Amino acid sequence: MKTQVAIIGAGPAGLLLGHLLKAEGVDCVVIERQTPDYVLGRIRAGVLEQITVDLMARLGLDERLRAEGLVEEGFNLADGERLIRIDVANLTGQTVVVYGQTEITKDLMDAAPARGLPVIYGAEDVAVFDIETDAPYVTYTLDGAPQRIDARFIAGCDGFHGPSRKAIPASVAREYERVYPFGWLGILADVPPCNHELIYANHQRGFALASMRSHTRSRYYIDVPLTEKIEDWSDDRIWDELAIRLGPDAAANMTRGPSIEKSIAPLRSYVFEPMRHGSLLLCGDAAHIVPPTGAKGLNLAASDVHYAAHALTHYFKRADNDAIAGYSAKALARVWKSERFSWTLTKLMHRFPDDGPFERAMQVAELDYIASSTAAQMSIAENYVGLPV
Ligand SMILES: Cc1cc2nc3c(=O)[nH]c(=O)nc-3n(C[C@H](O)[C@H](O)[C@H](O)COP(=O)(O)OP(=O)(O)OC[C@H]3O[C@@H](n4cnc5c(N)ncnc54)[C@H](O)[C@@H]3O)c2cc1C
Repeated sequence: MKTQVAIIGAGPAGLLLGHLLKAEGVDCVVIERQTPDYVLGRIRAGVLEQITVDLMARLGLDERLRAEGLVEEGFNLADGERLIRIDVANLTGQTVVVYGQTEITKDLMDAAPARGLPVIYGAEDVAVFDIETDAPYVTYTLDGAPQRIDARFIAGCDGFHGPSRKAIPASVAREYERVYPFGWLGILADVPPCNHELIYANHQRGFALASMRSHTRSRYYIDVPLTEKIEDWSDDRIWDELAIRLGPDAAANMTRGPSIEKSIAPLRSYVFEPMRHGSLLLCGDAAHIVPPTGAKGLNLAASDVHYAAHALTHYFKRADNDAIAGYSAKALARVWKSERFSWTLTKLMHRFPDDGPFERAMQVAELDYIASSTAAQMSIAENYVGLPV
């Protein structure tokens, strides 16, 4: 098979890129290792910046998002008894939208056949070749038969563990990484949220986050040491811990219910440079990971795709190579700012095992400053709604 862009991975980055390229008349194919059900079963992000909402609107695939998404005008930082509200809408004139990553993926997946976007699921042993030439290709196995797709470009949208990033030679690569000494234990339950806006809590027993996917579905998190096993956390134990860490007001409004999903996700900050090498462009988690504090992962994937779609479209429509040449620098400039915000918020809202009284005093001073300064709240708010692309 021949195409202009072979896209590896049918997560949000790959599907968004595929749809954007198709809409511009650029030929592409998406190759995914898993089945559609498996992809839709991964419970992940849920807070969308304007860039992500805008991309769905540009594709005309935002009908359900507009109908079912919850527009959020602010969020809260809790520190013991104190609740600091960041009035995002008043400070920035913008909002975020709560709409699950699985819903975005479903909307993109469902629209693919009608838009003529081929998505090959169940592709095994995907590998990329000749990325330093103008004729790269992808090989994979489908139902036991070897396959090959020749392309002009390959877009690596295959997440943190995919093969694309590994195809870039170590001699040109730079990696930056911070692994955190805890993970987030998440519980998803069909119960109404305890608050209409997110609450990030820094409690002496640890971090907690109250968030939601809809008026009837809640997503809560607590941080736990990486040695913890999910089997040791009954639903009751999680609800009890949440009630303590989120504080009495949130606890009084918290509805408990059986988990429909629970898991522990390790936290990591990671950036790979460059995001393009030869004919291979990396987008989303394939190139970078942020800790989920601040909800930047999915939104960064969306901004990468925005830049990548622009670069690829200019290449094929205008024979313009400049945007391709500039893709990595442009994407990385925004990536690093989101990494900074996610890292700062993680440091502010978690009790690190090695922290002593000084580090805690710094957290309190920082939260005091945020509570009393409109400038500090503005800085948080503009990062939260997403920096311009
Ligand atoms: C447990 C968890 C919780 C998260 N929570 C949040 C959150 O609350 N807020 C937030 O903003 N972000 C969160 N994130 C991050 C966010 O979900 C990601 O940033 C987002 O999924 C990135 O999209 P992506 O398309 O780049 O990568 P992915 O969603 O990882 O998609 C990559 C795709 O590539 C496919 N693939 C992988 N290997 C291959 C291969 N060899 N061949 C073919 N296909 C392959 C995968 O199956 C997958 O479908 C979370 C992530 C995890 C893991």
